[in-house]
Amino acid sequence: MIPLPLHEVVAAFERLYPPHTASSWDRVGLVSGDMDQPVSLVHFAVDPTLAVIDEARAAGADLLVTHHPLLLRGVHSVATTSAKGASVTALIVNHIALFVAHTNADVASPGVCDALASACGLVEVGPLEVVDGVGHGRVGSLVSPLTLREFVQNLSLVLPKAAAGIRVAGPADALVSRVAVVGGAGDDFFDAVRASGADVYVTADLRHHPALEAREEARGGTPYLVDAGHWATEWLWLQSARSELLRELAGRGTSLNTHICTLCTDPWDFVIGAATGDNNGGTS
Ligand SMILES: [Zn+2]
Repeated sequence: MIPLPLHEVVAAFERLYPPHTASSWDRVGLVSGDMDQPVSLVHFAVDPTLAVIDEARAAGADLLVTHHPLLLRGVHSVATTSAKGASVTALIVNHIALFVAHTNADVASPGVCDALASACGLVEVGPLEVVDGVGHGRVGSLVSPLTLREFVQNLSLVLPKAAAGIRVAGPADALVSRVAVVGGAGDDFFDAVRASGADVYVTADLRHHPALEAREEARGGTPYLVDAGHWATEWLWLQSARSELLRELAGRGTSLNTHICTLCTDPWDFVIGAATGDNNGGTS
């Protein structure tokens, strides 16, 4: 095992997920750590929560790589009196560097949306929408049509489990073939989804009004909606980020250890009162 200095690992990530491709409001890159500190174990997670940082510490990680930023807005204290402050303090006192690849990983290829497209079993995958030369989301086709129910059941087998499960809008027995995907919050993309001719749109964090209006516009038809959970749809990318990092560093004669977070950071713990999952044969 030959540790690499942090700056070499950061440089590799910035080749994979160039910071200039991140949205202007985003805050990506190195959050804590010394560029010269050695890195032997990289821990990958969606969210830099206190529990995730503790898992990284217990595993002996030198570097925590997350999709979501820890600090998106200005702070005036990193005291342990706030959760953010406690997180920063825990990272620093345990010598754990934190690196964030967020919207730059969303648009990367391979990136977050490619991982979700792959999990959906899509082929002939292309960008859902191109803005200023950057592809957002993905759209592709199933190898052969499936019913909406079969498609979502297949997806559920490859997504990590979360208490909120997967919500579906559309008739369970309708055949679907063309699928649009956006990992994480995706209700800004309905126009692009309609323009793509997708039968079904897989994303997360669909709010009541945008989702209901999309169903109204569809008059009960396509695109059907699948809200597969923010954490679950982005967790898929962690495997991709790990393999891309190792490939990027393959020529460096190192053998970085890596670990994928085992904690579910979806905020919901249980669901009560849902109608049964078998009464969903409606048309809207
Ligand atoms: Zn996200």
